[in-house]
Amino acid sequence: MQTGLILGDQLTLTLASLRVLNPQTDRIVMAEVYDEATYTKHHKQKIALVFSAMRHFADELRESGWKVDYYAYDSESEYRSLFDVVQAHCKQHGSERLVLTQCGEYRLQNAMDKQWRKALEIPVDIYGDDRFICSTSEFAEWADGRKQLRMEYFYREMRRKTGYLMNDGEPQGGEWNYDSENRNRWKGEPPLPTPPQFNRDDIDNEVLELVEREFPDHIGTLEHFNWGSTRAQANAALGFFIQYCLADFGTYQDAMARGEKSLFHSLLSPYLNCGLLTATQVCDAAEKAYKDGRVPLNAVEGFIRQIIGWREYVRGIYWLHMPHYAKENFLGNTRSLPSYYWDGKTRMACMADCFKNTFDHAYAHHIQRLMVTGNFALLTGIKPEEICDWYLAVYADAYDWVELPNTLGMVMHADGGYLGSKPYAASGNYIHKMSDYCTGCEYSVKTRSDHDSCPFNSLYWHFIDRHREQFQKNPRMSMIYRSFERMSEENRALTLERAEHLLEHLDDL
Ligand SMILES: Cc1cc2nc3c(=O)[nH]c(=O)nc-3n(C[C@H](O)[C@H](O)[C@H](O)COP(=O)(O)OP(=O)(O)OC[C@H]3O[C@@H](n4cnc5c(N)ncnc54)[C@H](O)[C@@H]3O)c2cc1C
Ligand code: SF4
Repeated sequence: MQTGLILGDQLTLTLASLRVLNPQTDRIVMAEVYDEATYTKHHKQKIALVFSAMRHFADELRESGWKVDYYAYDSESEYRSLFDVVQAHCKQHGSERLVLTQCGEYRLQNAMDKQWRKALEIPVDIYGDDRFICSTSEFAEWADGRKQLRMEYFYREMRRKTGYLMNDGEPQGGEWNYDSENRNRWKGEPPLPTPPQFNRDDIDNEVLELVEREFPDHIGTLEHFNWGSTRAQANAALGFFIQYCLADFGTYQDAMARGEKSLFHSLLSPYLNCGLLTATQVCDAAEKAYKDGRVPLNAVEGFIRQIIGWREYVRGIYWLHMPHYAKENFLGNTRSLPSYYWDGKTRMACMADCFKNTFDHAYAHHIQRLMVTGNFALLTGIKPEEICDWYLAVYADAYDWVELPNTLGMVMHADGGYLGSKPYAASGNYIHKMSDYCTGCEYSVKTRSDHDSCPFNSLYWHFIDRHREQFQKNPRMSMIYRSFERMSEENRALTLERAEHLLEHLDDL
């Protein structure tokens, strides 16, 4: 008899380990344990989604003939960690072998490799996670010997490998990337589709009660919980996106609007990351919509690029550079995260809206994460560790392998530039261009150094000035430095003075 351990982000029927185990002879173990639920203060909705999806998946496995031993969350349990559960299970059933699929997180994978193998005294077989399009070794091979890694070139490889949007070896439409068509502001038209409301069953209700009872001090609220917890619901979310949102996904990909949670974004990341949907399934559906003439090329290309490009690329970077990656701090940041990241209380309208979305829904779309809350952390020089912990805690889709490179690399430029050849730093002008936030804000986006000037404006120039050494020679930033030099001396001094004042009173903005 062999034991197969399935983790909370491995809820896929075709998982590598399930393909080698035998339902007639082997047993599956799944567990909700204290250590995993609390190693960071995960948003309540994230815990609820993972526990409920795990319980539904256990039922799905049983219906297909597997014997599943499921350890539901029990705060009094003597089994605090996954290792405790696995050890007890193997002993109880006299397992000859533990079979696993490679973990998403370095922390757990490292423990399995270093400690579990020794302590269990039975063979531990770990299979590569082939739900990803690019294996970790394939990525390492691609990266080997390259002076600079760029997502765009990796993405082209993945297009060739998968054949998505390819035509006789050439990209569909003649271009690899249609990003330049994807930068429109959304001005109320076209109307936003209303995402489906999912019915709750007994499993969901039980889990929601459990989370409220056991994790009262975790961030966020369950009030607006509307994530699907079954494969059927995840499929329905995919169907809804393809039918009602994908056509406008590209055009409004970078837009933001006050009070609007997701615009035309897919809301699919939590399902992709826990295994209820797979990358290929999602891209197949998007490509089919294009081939059927239902969606334009800029939309489908933009969407497929996020999945086979960015998603695979950040995973490759993560496994290539862990564990030292998590400690990088290229810009030498030292500031602590302001309190509004935890309570949402700020007069900056853009930040307040992104925090509300985050706390209410365990969600914010990419531009809210990158250009608002992330940009602010970059400009103010927050310690990478603190801002990474925040992003890991607050989103339903947050897992270390994807959160860390996005935050530490793409947002904070703390890795020196694998995720972008220049930092995504921007003044309030960018936020104003892409959203309606500034019209309802106490601060003025038009000025830099007045008492009510938009904080992003002076902080932007302060960032540029204080990191001259790192960026002045970057050809993509030379124009910015020239603009800074062209400002009058007085203007420059007042701008930097205002920024210094803001940095001294960071918690009060
Ligand atoms: C600071 C920061 C932290 C982030 N943390 C996470 C995280 O913990 N988990 C996570 O899945 N994504 C993370 N992202 C990437 C991205 O913001 C989310 O994947 C996206 O907002 C999820 O919403 P959606 O499903 O509506 O995405 P859509 O905009 O509809 O995109 C479609 C899909 O593409 C993938 N995708 C898009 N952008 C990225 C990206 N940069 N990296 C990886 N996958 C991408 C996702 O799977 C997403 O579901 C982060 C981005 C930033 C800037
Ligand atoms: S004025 Fe500045 S702080 Fe206010 S919403 Fe606009 S960008 Fe944000």
